[in-house]
Amino acid sequence: MGRSTDQLLQVPPGRDIRLADFDPDFHEDLEREAAEVETRHHGEHLDELAYRLFAEAKRAVIVVLQGIDTSGKDGTIRMLAGGISPQCLDVKSFKAPSALELSHDFLWRVHAAVPAHGRIGIFNRSPDEDVVVVRVRKLVPKEVWKGRFDQINAFEKLLADGGITLVKCFLHISKKEQRQRLEDRLHDPKKQWKLGPDDLEDRKRWDDFQKAYDDALTLCNTEHAPWHIVPADKKWYRNLVVARLVRRTLERLDPHFPPFDSSLLTKLD
Ligand code: AMP
Ligand code: MG
Repeated sequence: MGRSTDQLLQVPPGRDIRLADFDPDFHEDLEREAAEVETRHHGEHLDELAYRLFAEAKRAVIVVLQGIDTSGKDGTIRMLAGGISPQCLDVKSFKAPSALELSHDFLWRVHAAVPAHGRIGIFNRSPDEDVVVVRVRKLVPKEVWKGRFDQINAFEKLLADGGITLVKCFLHISKKEQRQRLEDRLHDPKKQWKLGPDDLEDRKRWDDFQKAYDDALTLCNTEHAPWHIVPADKKWYRNLVVARLVRRTLERLDPHFPPFDSSLLTKLD
């Protein structure tokens, strides 16, 4: 990925992130077809890199996909999983917490979903729900969710120190694009199941969600776990950006096959 495009996606830790400053329709000067060809090309490399990570079995990666309803989390997972062998992948979706989950601290279920060394975890939503949706829907008191920004940062540091690289992607769509996608869901029998009353209610609180995300992205944007703001109005551009990010992350990790025990050469009867 070119340096300038890369920088467009990130904000240095400590600086304010305001989603309104990012264009959800940004797509460089690319056309859909060229972007899809490039995405497929990254996919081929991803499979090889993920296999090396799996064989090495010393480190792990988590791709965190966060974003409002219809932002494309499911589609991004389909794209990533299409390119990587399932044995290297753990996909986890975080829904509204169960009674059991609510009887533990909010990170309990997240920690349980962290992939073992060698694997790539994909998180559909993340602990950021615990500082965003709970804030907007007033599900927990302010003094509780306010303390969670530091707790998330400390948790992500623990993971990073334990050899886990986080690739945090915020899929950023416009209010107009969300309307279009919700309308598609309302009328497409294959998509209607995805809609619940909460989705339409949440849309009415669009500004509150954007503000809550601004705070979550700003306060949990650290050196060890930075956020990437992914322009997601164009699905094909979103896929390309995430594929590039994951490929680049794995290339930096440069996983190696374990050393071969050459004494085995003499043991085959
Ligand atoms: P979906 O991803 O569209 O299937 O919906 C999952 C729903 O669960 C969304 O409305 C999320 O906001 C909600 N959700 C996820 N995590 C939490 C959480 N920690 N507390 C409350 N609601 C959550
Ligand atoms: Mg939904």
